[in-house]
Amino acid sequence: MAIYNPKSLKAEEFINDAEIRETLEYAEQNKNNVELIDKILEKARPKKTATGYTCSGLTHREASVLLACDIPEKVEQIYQIAEEIKLAFYGNRIVIFAPLYLSNYCVNGCVYCPYHLKNKRIPRKKLTQEEVKAEVIALQDMGHKRLAIESGEDPVNNPIEYILECIKTIYSVHHKNGDIRRVNVNIAATTVENYRKLKDAGIGTYILFQETYHKESYLKLHPTGPKHDYDYHTEAMDRAMEGGIDDVGLGVLFGLELYKYEFAGLIMHAEHLEAVHGVGPHTISVPRIKRADDIDPDAFDNSISDEIFAKITACIRLAVPYTGMIISTRESEEVRSKLLRLGISQVSGGSRTSVGGYTTQERPHDTEQFDVSDQRTLDEVVKWLMENGHIPSFCTACYREGRTGDRFMSLCKSGQILNCCHPNALMTLTEYLEDYASEDTKKVGYELIKKELLRIPKDRVREIAQHNIDDIMNSNRRDFRF
Ligand code: SAM
Repeated sequence: MAIYNPKSLKAEEFINDAEIRETLEYAEQNKNNVELIDKILEKARPKKTATGYTCSGLTHREASVLLACDIPEKVEQIYQIAEEIKLAFYGNRIVIFAPLYLSNYCVNGCVYCPYHLKNKRIPRKKLTQEEVKAEVIALQDMGHKRLAIESGEDPVNNPIEYILECIKTIYSVHHKNGDIRRVNVNIAATTVENYRKLKDAGIGTYILFQETYHKESYLKLHPTGPKHDYDYHTEAMDRAMEGGIDDVGLGVLFGLELYKYEFAGLIMHAEHLEAVHGVGPHTISVPRIKRADDIDPDAFDNSISDEIFAKITACIRLAVPYTGMIISTRESEEVRSKLLRLGISQVSGGSRTSVGGYTTQERPHDTEQFDVSDQRTLDEVVKWLMENGHIPSFCTACYREGRTGDRFMSLCKSGQILNCCHPNALMTLTEYLEDYASEDTKKVGYELIKKELLRIPKDRVREIAQHNIDDIMNSNRRDFRF
């Protein structure tokens, strides 16, 4: 039997089934242990330092106890601490991105995904480079600067060379004042050599959802195709890091398996990356399974309520305070509103989940991967965020200034966010307002920026930020950054 070892490079040792089961038992036994829960909550709380805040995070066992706890007063405290952590390390900024679907050709048999090989109803489509350009122009015209490219797994139709060519095309398009400054990549698990090629192509984060950490279920949910190999999939982030990619994004597709099992596995995966590579995941996504062509989410009996979903999000926030958290348009405005307070730091807006969806007017589009619940335009999402006290940020500076991996983490930990990320967010928001926003959104935006500039602690930084913002408004000069 495999023994739990977070430092091992073997999937069955760092995501160890016996350890997860013992964790769940421990959590169940202690879910009403108020003394222990208080101790864990105290540990999770951000502590003030001379320069900012520090936070120790929680082990998978501690975090699992909180997730199991149903005492209303304690759950309320979990939410409060999640909000405190969010504000301490990320402030009120929310990073904006959009997915770009390149191809829905896929040789896998994932039973929850409409792109599975046996689905003969869905039209198969792969963007040509001209079509990639057209999609990117449409995305730039909305105001996007950061994309997550998505593709099915098909070595013949979407080989790594195709993905690399698309990345090159995306970075080459400069339409009016637009450009895509960061391309994150969500493609199937691959080799160290291919990860190195992605790194050399200038990608931001490599994202790969585990789908489920439960091996037995994983094998059933991925009955055919290369994705069937649980170990190869689970060890992908280690290969990505070996290939030089130091920002990786984890995620579980909630609804496939029991959420407490998935949660423990997810936090163990984060602990493993930290133990082996010295840096945890850059982001964690929290997707839930959605209706799609030939997929009925009710066929999966582990779906979770909005309430449990919020609790999972808050517990992740407490466990890994320095990891960004992403919520997509799979979720409605109402759910997104609630989760934004509990630790989410990135949202997508104006998304299309179909191949060629940004240049196609009608919706739903026949190659859509799943139903989008939040169908508002990017302008509406930006305005809504600002009206709720968040700063939509189009910033991509960290990655372009080489502040990735542990360098980003140290910025986060040293409390320099207000002198660096905050002004960058305000400058990129100004770009958005000037170039793409409606008059109503502009009005709300400039009021917010005026107020938020005053929160920059260093006088000199505030002065420069104000100067750059004036320049963006009065000229066509763009892309200022700290
Ligand atoms: N093909 C790549 C892979 O195998 O990892 C990733 C790209 S896929 C377009 C992105 C993610 O969409 C998957 O990892 C899965 O979690 C999610 N997904 C698939 N079907 C879904 C559904 N019906 N509802 C919600 N999310 C879904």
